[in-house]
Amino acid sequence: MEAALLEPVINTVTELDSLFKPKSIAIIGASQKELSIGNVIIKNLVHYGYTGAIYPINPKMSEIRGIKAYTSIFEVEGDIDLAHVIVPAPSVPQVIEDCGKKGIKAVIINSAGFSEMGDEGIALQKKFLAIAKEYGVRIFGPNCQGIINTDPEYRAYCDFTFTFPKPGNISIVALSGGVGAFIMQSLFDLDTGMRLYASNGNACDVSISDVIRYYGDDEDTRVIILYTEGLSNPLEFMDVVKEVTKKKPVLAMKSGRTVEGAKAAASHTGALAGVDISTELIFEKIGILSFHNEEELCQVAIAFANQPIPQGNRVGIITNTGGPAVIATDELVNAGLQLPALSERAKEILHKTQLPEATIGNPIDVVATGGGIHFRSALDVLMEEDDIDSIFINFVTAPFTDTDEVARNIVEVSQMKKKPVICNFMTNMSLERFQVTSRILKDGGVPCYSFPTTAAKALGALYRYGKTRARNIGEANNFKDIDHNKAEVIMHQAVKDGKPYLSADRVYELLNAYGIPVADWWLANDIEEAMSAANGMGYPVVLKAESTEIVHKSDVGGVAINLKNAIDVAEAASRMVNVFGSKNLKFFVQKFMPGGKELIAGVSVKPGLGHLIMFGLGGVYVEVLKDVVFKIAPVTKVEAGEMLSSIKAAKLLDGVRGEKGINRDMAIEIIQRVSQLVTDFPVITEMDMNPIIALNDKLFVVDARMKIS
Ligand code: ADP
Ligand code: MG
Repeated sequence: MEAALLEPVINTVTELDSLFKPKSIAIIGASQKELSIGNVIIKNLVHYGYTGAIYPINPKMSEIRGIKAYTSIFEVEGDIDLAHVIVPAPSVPQVIEDCGKKGIKAVIINSAGFSEMGDEGIALQKKFLAIAKEYGVRIFGPNCQGIINTDPEYRAYCDFTFTFPKPGNISIVALSGGVGAFIMQSLFDLDTGMRLYASNGNACDVSISDVIRYYGDDEDTRVIILYTEGLSNPLEFMDVVKEVTKKKPVLAMKSGRTVEGAKAAASHTGALAGVDISTELIFEKIGILSFHNEEELCQVAIAFANQPIPQGNRVGIITNTGGPAVIATDELVNAGLQLPALSERAKEILHKTQLPEATIGNPIDVVATGGGIHFRSALDVLMEEDDIDSIFINFVTAPFTDTDEVARNIVEVSQMKKKPVICNFMTNMSLERFQVTSRILKDGGVPCYSFPTTAAKALGALYRYGKTRARNIGEANNFKDIDHNKAEVIMHQAVKDGKPYLSADRVYELLNAYGIPVADWWLANDIEEAMSAANGMGYPVVLKAESTEIVHKSDVGGVAINLKNAIDVAEAASRMVNVFGSKNLKFFVQKFMPGGKELIAGVSVKPGLGHLIMFGLGGVYVEVLKDVVFKIAPVTKVEAGEMLSSIKAAKLLDGVRGEKGINRDMAIEIIQRVSQLVTDFPVITEMDMNPIIALNDKLFVVDARMKIS
């Protein structure tokens, strides 16, 4: 990664305290109009019980919503930590200057009319930002909602939204206010608390990375939810957030990823990575858990807020009703979890403690008449089982049992925090009796869901996170056997020539210099030379029409395979001359490599991020199956291995039906060497090796293209 692309890292820890923990807030542009932002923010601060001082600023009013108003911030005697700015865009630069002079350290600009509005707005944004930098004022927004801190010490509702969350451990950051607001509302509806909230709109200064770093350092934030549609500074984001994911889970959703549409359009690496898939690749690289469904994201967060992370994938199920346990099992298995058999010791205890009609196994069916003691003994047994990492409960509120007693037992065991406990709680919430039961579970920190699949997905996510946290991708390998000088000479020449596509001989020599195995080849200037090259190489050979203008050679008759003698070669060459003309046409003679599997490896560039490395099934399958995966360079050995394992046809690489698999180690090495090549030479903007022919023991590149800028 190029260091030059990194913006200077600003230590936000204390600076952002003024934003998230303000002791006093000025509302510049406060209004007495009920239906205005300058009024709603004051109303929200008061309603939510903000513990600090509120200073409405309005040149014409002496009082707003019963609070003393000031004509200007300079009239306020005490310090002001944070200011909301709700004045028309053209006045903002002056207001920021005033804030600077007053010593205000953080400003939320709710006003719109900046970079989202084109050139004039961009200029205005630049102007106030320069002033802010001069005075050391941090800008949140503009064109944004604001922040919320639910901490009872502050209760800072610096936002114009309408959800009033109770304190909790989940912190939210969303570029889009709309999405942020419904995530907050959704947690509220799920009866779950929230810690900090931030929706920063245009994000001209305080970035998503800054906010996540702050959340990472906030002790009471146990899990972070991120919603974004892309990243303005991906390298900074990676750098900052990879430190945060070491400390706490970051659950994220990125929208705008209709990859299929882009994939359908094209056949080469550049276009396969055409849609912004890089944000999700970043998530993967730095250990952020990625979601494609906003509802699931919210549901899952509840489990993260209260439960420990399972040590492994072995789940024990307790149920008091049959069907839902079956549904849950399906989803749990889908998520990669297993249901091990119970130990003899466990069965013995359960036979003694459960009702005679109970099913002793995994799931343990305590049956509908089972009460608190039956649930409890099942829970205790599973907590003690060495082969169980997590507990899934199906709890239907059978009217003939003491459901509160069941709930209390679940809570007691859950609060030991030894293994995660997830509950699919099936009830009628309009009955007061069951509202009480529900309250016991929720106040006790037991994540409750009203569908078995939803509950199972939540446990699945905890498990997925456990794996992510344990994953160590290591450092990228630096192969020492590389002829760097030779590569440099080739690259230098290519850049000097000024043509975007490198000639075949240069590409193959470059691959050679980087230890990437290529099939024996010779670039011949005419038919005679092609024949003698083939004679020297030994038959069978392949002949290819070589011209940088021909992209898909085989589509237009530019590839003749399995040529068995010099006459075959001459005939094939003549046919190509007929098709392409003799001008500028050269012949690429290559050793024929029959019977292998065809793979693809490639490279594309994502501006601001660097190279993406692609791997998958090659040949004609690329276009049809699009079975390819991407990673951000530099790709480590672990990541290269993951690439092989994560294509849909992964099993094909291991060999099926008695057929031998490919040499995995060599494929993994090729991916790493390609990664090193493009990392060493960032001028390479596109590269395709399709196919790489993979035989049992060896792999050979037989077709390669490379583009530079
Ligand atoms: P293009 O992609 O430009 O059409 P390729 O060089 O990839 O041309 O050749 C097309 C197909 O011909 C390959 O996918 C592969 O099936 C086959 N092929 C090409 N070169 C060889 C070779 N040296 N040995 C075996 N098969 C080859
Ligand atoms: Mg090809």
